[in-house]
Amino acid sequence: MSEQNLVIIGSGPAGLTAAIYASRATLNPILIEGTPSSTSDQPGGQLMLTTEVENYPGFPDGIMGPELMANFRQQALRFGTTAITSKVSKVEFSTSGNNNAEPHKIWIDGSEENGADPDYLAKAIIVSTGAQSILLNLPNESELIGRGVSTCATCDGFFFKDHEIAVVGGGDSAMEEALFLTKFATKVNIIHRRDALRASKIMADRAMSNDKITFHWNKEVDVIEGTDKLSGIKLRDTQNDEISDLAVTGMFIAIGHSPNTSLFDGQLNMKESGYLITEPDSTKTNVSGVFACGDVQDDFFRQAITAAGSGCMAAIEAEHWLQAH
Ligand code: NAP
Repeated sequence: MSEQNLVIIGSGPAGLTAAIYASRATLNPILIEGTPSSTSDQPGGQLMLTTEVENYPGFPDGIMGPELMANFRQQALRFGTTAITSKVSKVEFSTSGNNNAEPHKIWIDGSEENGADPDYLAKAIIVSTGAQSILLNLPNESELIGRGVSTCATCDGFFFKDHEIAVVGGGDSAMEEALFLTKFATKVNIIHRRDALRASKIMADRAMSNDKITFHWNKEVDVIEGTDKLSGIKLRDTQNDEISDLAVTGMFIAIGHSPNTSLFDGQLNMKESGYLITEPDSTKTNVSGVFACGDVQDDFFRQAITAAGSGCMAAIEAEHWLQAH
């Protein structure tokens, strides 16, 4: 087990941009990119679950999210990044501080459970583990994921050709999912708990002017029905508690995201919401030699371009840190 200069954990826009910069700086980074899964916690990050990206500069006609991430990855590999398709299961950050006497330790795919030595030792680490979809936390929800309930229209929309479906949420994600799903569904019902959208005006206008989309204001999902597959939902009116039925066979949950930081509990400083805390105008965490970039430390902008920008910052800061130590 050799000691690496730099290990990057996570392969969304932030991690892959860090990999491009670090590999061009001849740091020979190892990128632990995650493993494919049904949630947004997967290689390539949340853009893998998105359709067309219209606001990433450099693509005047837009580009599909998965294609954009494949390009990022190809660019990182071209300069010598080593990509490992595994999931980090444990980290032990060195407490030797600026002395850098001890490397940071990383275990992958549960190898620590057998008492094994770390899979990787690293002088510096960039954390770019992103964020993932929040669920409603209702009975039956997890059981019916993949059986009518989904958090990813891009992945699952095709299976709902000629179905009537619901999209839960009032933000940009909900509008984007609903608009995409109109390609397949007979009707798309947007369920929102308030009477005003959180989504940007342009996305809200597009959804509101689409004939296939109906808004259900001041409504929350109360019951998810079905045994083997979704057969319908019950809605509760948030103002008068009235219950109504909606006979949908698909439900897409688009109510926001939470950061993938449980791995760093007790080791990296984080906000109450779980987002990592970095120094102002920097990607430095509270641990010397550990940097954080992208959505895992950004609960405000949460854009691919800002994630990529902070990935660039992390690589440059890691390079300076390695030179100084
Ligand atoms: P968001 O902006 O946080 O919106 C989440 C929505 O879900 C809100 O409307 C919220 O209701 C609702 N919600 C939250 N918890 C709920 C619950 N337990 N039950 C029912 N409803 C619940 O999240 P997002 O839409 O994922 O967007 C995140 C960020 O990414 C935003 O900055 C967004 O602009 C950006 N984004 C941009 C694009 C694009 O430009 N193409 C696409 C996707 C996302 P309330 O409004 O009542 O809080």
